[in-house]
Amino acid sequence: MYKTKAYSAASKSSPLASDTIPRRDPTDRDVQIEILFCGICHSDLHYARDEWHDVMPAVYPAVPGHEIVGKVTKVGSAVTQYKAGDLVGVGCLVDSDHTCPNCQAGLEQFCPGQVLTYGSPDKHKTAPVTYGGYSDSIVVDERFVLRIPSNLDLAGAAPLLCAGITTYSPMRHWGVTKGKKVGVVGLGGLGHMGVKFAHAFGAQTVVFTTSPNKREDALRLGADEVVVSKNADEMQKHTGSFDFILDCVAADHDINAYINLLTRDGNITLVGAPEKPLPVAAFGLIMGRRSLSGSPIGGLAETQEMLDFCGQHHITSDVEVIPIQKVNEAYERIVKSDVKYRFSIDMASLKSD
Ligand code: NAP
Ligand code: ZN
Repeated sequence: MYKTKAYSAASKSSPLASDTIPRRDPTDRDVQIEILFCGICHSDLHYARDEWHDVMPAVYPAVPGHEIVGKVTKVGSAVTQYKAGDLVGVGCLVDSDHTCPNCQAGLEQFCPGQVLTYGSPDKHKTAPVTYGGYSDSIVVDERFVLRIPSNLDLAGAAPLLCAGITTYSPMRHWGVTKGKKVGVVGLGGLGHMGVKFAHAFGAQTVVFTTSPNKREDALRLGADEVVVSKNADEMQKHTGSFDFILDCVAADHDINAYINLLTRDGNITLVGAPEKPLPVAAFGLIMGRRSLSGSPIGGLAETQEMLDFCGQHHITSDVEVIPIQKVNEAYERIVKSDVKYRFSIDMASLKSD
């Protein structure tokens, strides 16, 4: 075991602060990574503030961060795929049971024995729970380490590990391609990646935003059209026309307004995970045989596929790079939807703390 620097929350109401945490010494199958950048996902706030208490109660100290990009510093004797110096990524998962039907199908995101990057019981007993990427280094089983294409900017690549795969996976699953009309609700970290992917897949892409000042950005990111969702007339024009809508909103909102925009057999998938339940009107789904579903991140193979797709298409997240010392300010701005479009923490800043 060794000690490394991190930022943690001591309770649901405390700001994040400098801390020292234990990491395990790499075992045979482990890769030790010096973390270079870590994106800030809205899930980090939900967790640090214990907003998901009923499904994922926070354990303190809480070290968030699951959009990790770094350099391999050391590998265990049985590691075959990575060596010191490689540029790698770690997303929301660091382990699974490897044997269940989901794991066998490469869908580790559904494994009942999955270990999340932060907040899961630590199988190695180094700490009560796993600690995330707001830290100098991390040690991960090589099967949960991903390769970062060499042409991608590292600060902008970090958010691909969660915001990227969480939007890529449901779009692939629901067949977003050329000829489909696709909506993306909420232009935040996930939403802006959703727009980039929908555009790259050739779909007619419409952004729904509550922030009129994001209109120009949405078009630049690849949207064909932007609807300010508070404007009922603009919404009305699209009734019954969408094949697929990806809902990326982190807060309470009216999902029925979007269900009504779906065509027959259209699907709306929730990736946003608001604290409180969203009421759903039955008739919106019944009339049109529409469906409502959800989707969590993606499996390891699909995450690598997404990263390679991003390498080929030069896709990264639009990031505002910050030192770790600004993480609390960043959290406040995320709550106000004031981020264009992802904060990426330059982890070198942790050295001066
Ligand atoms: P984010 O950057 O804060 O973006 C959320 C966006 O939602 C905002 O930018 C805003 O877009 C819109 N919004 C915020 N408050 C709203 C309100 N009251 N009504 C309507 N729209 C509102 O968050 P994120 O990191 O993209 O994460 C989004 C959600 O996805 C979070 O709940 C997060 O926990 C969840 N998540 C889920 C998964 C998964 O596996 N399913 C993975 C990662 C994250 P506009 O300004 O354009 O309206
Ligand atoms: Zn996330």
